Amino acid sequence: MKVLKFGGTSVGSPDRMKKLLDIINPAEQQIVVLSAVSGTTNSLVEIGQAYLTGDKQKAAHLITVLKDKYEVFIKELLEKPEFYDQGKEVIDYHFRLLSGLANDLFTPIEDKIILAQGELLSTTLYHIYLKEIGVSSVLLPALEFMKTDEDSEPIVDHITSHLTPLLEQNKANNLFITQGYICRNAFGEVDNLRRGGSDYTASLIGAGIRSEEVQIWTDIDGMHNNDPRIVKGTKPIAQLSFDEAAELAYFGAKILHPQSVFPAQKYKIPVRLLNTMDPQAAGTLITNDSEKDRIKSIAAKDDITAIKIQSSRMLLAHGFLRRVFEVFERYRTSIDMITTSEVAVSVTIDDTTYLGEITKELGAYGTVDIDVNHTIVCVVGDFAAEKHGYAARVLEAIKHIPVRMISYGGSDHNMSLLVKTEDKVEALRSLHNRLF
Ligand code: ADP
Ligand code: ASP
Ligand code: MG
Repeated sequence: MKVLKFGGTSVGSPDRMKKLLDIINPAEQQIVVLSAVSGTTNSLVEIGQAYLTGDKQKAAHLITVLKDKYEVFIKELLEKPEFYDQGKEVIDYHFRLLSGLANDLFTPIEDKIILAQGELLSTTLYHIYLKEIGVSSVLLPALEFMKTDEDSEPIVDHITSHLTPLLEQNKANNLFITQGYICRNAFGEVDNLRRGGSDYTASLIGAGIRSEEVQIWTDIDGMHNNDPRIVKGTKPIAQLSFDEAAELAYFGAKILHPQSVFPAQKYKIPVRLLNTMDPQAAGTLITNDSEKDRIKSIAAKDDITAIKIQSSRMLLAHGFLRRVFEVFERYRTSIDMITTSEVAVSVTIDDTTYLGEITKELGAYGTVDIDVNHTIVCVVGDFAAEKHGYAARVLEAIKHIPVRMISYGGSDHNMSLLVKTEDKVEALRSLHNRLF
């Protein structure tokens, strides 16, 4: 069994949806994970925000605009009246639900129900389309097998134990369709795997059923060696290790959800990144192997805050770092980069929810300085310890840019630099020109 995930643009128009059958082979055993039609989740976010702020009029307007788009969408997707009527019923049902929330007390629970409608719509409409053209498929409700625990971590065993029976019950079928992104949380409420989470769904399903391969079909021919939205002339990378792919995803390569590599890595399931617009292109293969001794790619993660704690008490003291890290642990705030000197330590965080509390508590250990609006630029490749010259090449490439922190040697495949966000574009371009 293979798992194929199609992103928002890959299902972004009726025409694109119809073309999925150029890629999906209904004769082969496959689970197809679909995102919401591109733009839908953004609209749902806006609708939720309108409700949260009590602006029901704005919510109603946004709902009408989105519904109109779907009315047009199904006119092109579903030709026969019988199937068009089914599509219309589906749209009416989901949009009635969205409008109906105006009468309820609106909490984050309702907000998440709103966010789930995009994937529910795309998968149901695609399922009806397959019926219309006589391709048999089974629609699997992700909310019945995709679950997260109290820490919002997906539970792979739950997927295995709840998805396998669903597949068994429909043994005669090859083709299964399901929703990306959505799940139930520890309280049984509708929840999601955060933005871009359909990639994560695909990898989790792949892990849950130990599939032979996970394919992430998107609008570009694989992981490129730099952010194609910022740098011209980027090129796809043929092969990456799980570790390299995870670093790139975590540090900003939008093509993959930050956590999506880990489930596949744990069960050694190859992941391919492929282009729906150019299905023959080789794309990127992510496995345990990787081309050695090479810089592979550069990514950047914005909205980073650097925190420096300076104290002469750190000099020759033990336990200082533990006390500092415990503060972050208490506020469940994860640290991305760390650099130390004998009298100071700098760390970076991206979640600033508890920055005030953290700063106050750190104040007990020394002087605290905060720098906001920074970006982590991450250079990824295979630089095993005995190889030399990588750090020099990277630093030479950005010698004209002020660097706030440097982290190298934490692993064999990452060198991270913290720069001001205003210098990011120049840093990415300059690194690209000098390294590739
Ligand atoms: P989907 O909707 O299919 O999930 P995404 O928009 O989430 O697609 O991811 C694909 C996009 O990721 C590409 O169009 C590209 O602009 C962006 N991207 C950012 N960094 C990279 C990179 N290093 N390699 C490839 N694509 C990247
Ligand atoms: N539809 C969701 C989003 O836009 C999930 C995804 O596309 O992966 O974030
Ligand atoms: Mg995505």
